[in-house]
Amino acid sequence: MTHNYAAILQDISDAIHQTDFADARKADYIPALASVPDDHFAMVLRTAGGNELAIGQADLPFSIQSISKVFALVLAQRAHGDELWKAVRREPSGSAFNSLIQLEQEHGIPRNPFINAGAIRVADLIASRYANPDRSVAEFLGQLCGNPGIRVDNDVYLSEDQHGDRNRAIAYLMKSFGKLDNPVEDVVRAYFKQCSVAMTAREMARAAFFLANKGVGIDGRTVIAPEETSRINALMLTCGMYDGVGDFAFTVGIPAKSGVGGGIIGVIPGEFSVCVWSPRLDTRGNSAAGIKALEMLIRAIGRSVF
Ligand code: GLU
Repeated sequence: MTHNYAAILQDISDAIHQTDFADARKADYIPALASVPDDHFAMVLRTAGGNELAIGQADLPFSIQSISKVFALVLAQRAHGDELWKAVRREPSGSAFNSLIQLEQEHGIPRNPFINAGAIRVADLIASRYANPDRSVAEFLGQLCGNPGIRVDNDVYLSEDQHGDRNRAIAYLMKSFGKLDNPVEDVVRAYFKQCSVAMTAREMARAAFFLANKGVGIDGRTVIAPEETSRINALMLTCGMYDGVGDFAFTVGIPAKSGVGGGIIGVIPGEFSVCVWSPRLDTRGNSAAGIKALEMLIRAIGRSVF
């Protein structure tokens, strides 16, 4: 069934601009993220047929933050294959994204690749195989979205670096268990840099397209095999939305990954990839307007992955 996505996005945008997300707050633990205007909203949908629908500030770059973890995982999967799953588990965490508690209990093996511990270990695996780990995720994203100019936002990077004690603590704890292969400072630098990549919602919807398209990107080239694409989607569904992942599966029901910059990517395999961005976050760290927009989208088309 074909949908009038342009009309759906317009309705969503109207509703978002009429909603008072009074309790939502921008991330301020990375000061550079706090300076983005509150009311920005963008939504871009790329259909399996190659159509692109956009509304709002779709061409304004934002800080992709944890959305980068999906793409870093794909790079690590390409380099290490299934060996990757000896280093990182695949269970939802139920604790905060930057928690150290489970890491201690589970002897330095992170619960999944989308909490910070898991993503830092993935950055470590990338550092062992790629020539320029500080740039490999940004370059990969540039290839996927067709813009080789994708860069790290240096202000955000410096901000992350200066406020990165907790991530360093996570990395040192893993190192103490013998579960980090490269020097802590090299790994956290690469991790901070991948989080600090700036991209627009349009670029992000393009980069995520292969997840909706059996592993084939917007240029028709295979990014990863279809079965590996399904696994990444499974991880997004179970681990992609911080502590709100259960609620999100219940109310929206699509694989998605969010970041504290206010971006969320999502897919319905075979139908579309979508990126929504609005900087103010709910108490779980997910974009409040972004969640509402995705709920409305799923209601309007009458289906989720279930
Ligand atoms: N760079 C952020 C951190 O490590 C990522 C946070 C996020 O988007 O979840 O704290």
